[in-house]
Amino acid sequence: MKTVFVVGAGPAGIYATQKLARAGHSVFLFNRDIKPGGLAEYGIYPTKDKMKGGLRKLFGRILDMPNVAYFGHSTVASGKALTIDLLREWNPAALVFAVGAQGTKKIGLPGEDSRGVYSAKDFVYNYNLLPPFTSQDFSTGKRVAVIGMGNVMADLAHWLLVDDPNLTAEEVIVIARRGPFDTKFDRREFDYIEEYLDCRALEDELGRIKESIAAVGQDTAKVAEASFPALAKPRQDPTGARLRFRFLSSPTAIHADKDGRIERLTITENELVPRNGGTTARATEKTSDLEVDTLIFAIGDIVDPTVGLPSNKGIFLTNPDQSQSEQAAYEVFDPQGAHVVKGNYVVGWARLASEGVVGKARYDAEQGVDHILKYLEGVSDGSTPSAAEIRASLDRKGLRPVTQDELAHLARAEQRQAGERGVTPFKFGIDQEMLAAIEAEKSKSGNAAA
Ligand SMILES: Cc1cc2nc3c(=O)[nH]c(=O)nc-3n(C[C@H](O)[C@H](O)[C@H](O)COP(=O)(O)OP(=O)(O)OC[C@H]3O[C@@H](n4cnc5c(N)ncnc54)[C@H](O)[C@@H]3O)c2cc1C
Repeated sequence: MKTVFVVGAGPAGIYATQKLARAGHSVFLFNRDIKPGGLAEYGIYPTKDKMKGGLRKLFGRILDMPNVAYFGHSTVASGKALTIDLLREWNPAALVFAVGAQGTKKIGLPGEDSRGVYSAKDFVYNYNLLPPFTSQDFSTGKRVAVIGMGNVMADLAHWLLVDDPNLTAEEVIVIARRGPFDTKFDRREFDYIEEYLDCRALEDELGRIKESIAAVGQDTAKVAEASFPALAKPRQDPTGARLRFRFLSSPTAIHADKDGRIERLTITENELVPRNGGTTARATEKTSDLEVDTLIFAIGDIVDPTVGLPSNKGIFLTNPDQSQSEQAAYEVFDPQGAHVVKGNYVVGWARLASEGVVGKARYDAEQGVDHILKYLEGVSDGSTPSAAEIRASLDRKGLRPVTQDELAHLARAEQRQAGERGVTPFKFGIDQEMLAAIEAEKSKSGNAAA
């Protein structure tokens, strides 16, 4: 039995933990958030209760395995109390990074830092009640532009048009670099918002781009069949808030009002041109302005370099020698020493930023673990401190690691709150509230035992 440290308790980290633990190894799992689950807890749409509940239960069972120790509320970051170097000083036989893609893709537009401009991940973290995003300003206005045409866009529109308690949005305008044959959302996800689709406006938009996309052999008459079946259904135009699409357009400048909030977005019109048997979008000279008061970028994320792993262009560096072995794609690479960092791996969205659903993160983590298990056969276990010793050390550094037992206390406290407030499910959205609830539950169960 060897001791392996896993950093990040999203789906990738937890499935990696399960496979390592089932192989008989001891796993210490460090996680930034108090609760495990990553985007399964704080990204997946709030009303997908069944899926979220199922994953929560499963993840809880994995964390409860006797050879797994959980350290929630323990962020690994260079220059902070818990660094990668400190983890290495504790001598794990291997270190697995499953920290997801926590960085924000900036495209360097003028005005990008205006109020009312958000990254989808942060916005989604806010409505899924992940601290500290819960306490930050994610106010929306009447005209919300969303950049991108994938499932995350569909989730955002779903929230803005259906479930947002404030329901401020009168119009959600999806801005897409490419055309109506390049949508990336699943039908199932779009079904939630189809009734808000302004079909008349969509037809006008198809008319606007008809000639342009005909140049690459695309026929707007086939859009209904390919991506917007609502166009072929009996027409019922929405009477309230509307969902509109603006194709072949890329944002180029954000203009703020005197209070610093976005009031206008300049977009550049694109054309589709043939490339490698497909098409690509190319900017034209034409621009136009849209009046919007909120802008959300749903264009995928990049990794967060503050974790302390070598990265370049938003990706953690892995062994470049990938033609030689499959495991290379998972091995952390140090470009300064030009060598693989032995026994250090990346899996899940930390390796493939914003790629795929939970099942894909799981698959990636389990593939990675296959290589790690082989590596572990050839190394001896170091003298890793016990979980209790590591907790004590983190406490001394002013951190407050949360254990799996404490997660059970937290779950009980949230259940109680749900009952008292008549809100199901209830979630604390502030770390201090969660920690206080854990302490309160602990003393309650201590009193009950006494
Ligand atoms: C808006 C949205 C909706 C989605 N909806 C669905 C859906 O409906 N169905 C589906 O199957 N998939 C969905 N997905 C995709 C799914 O969430 C991902 O495939 C999956 O969560 C990726 O897993 P991961 O573990 O690699 O990363 P993450 O889920 O991001 O987990 C990363 C973990 O690492 C921790 N961490 C981060 N930084 C540090 C650090 N420095 N130190 C310690 N810990 C750290 C975080 O706390 C987190 O627990 C959705 C994704 C998004 C963005």
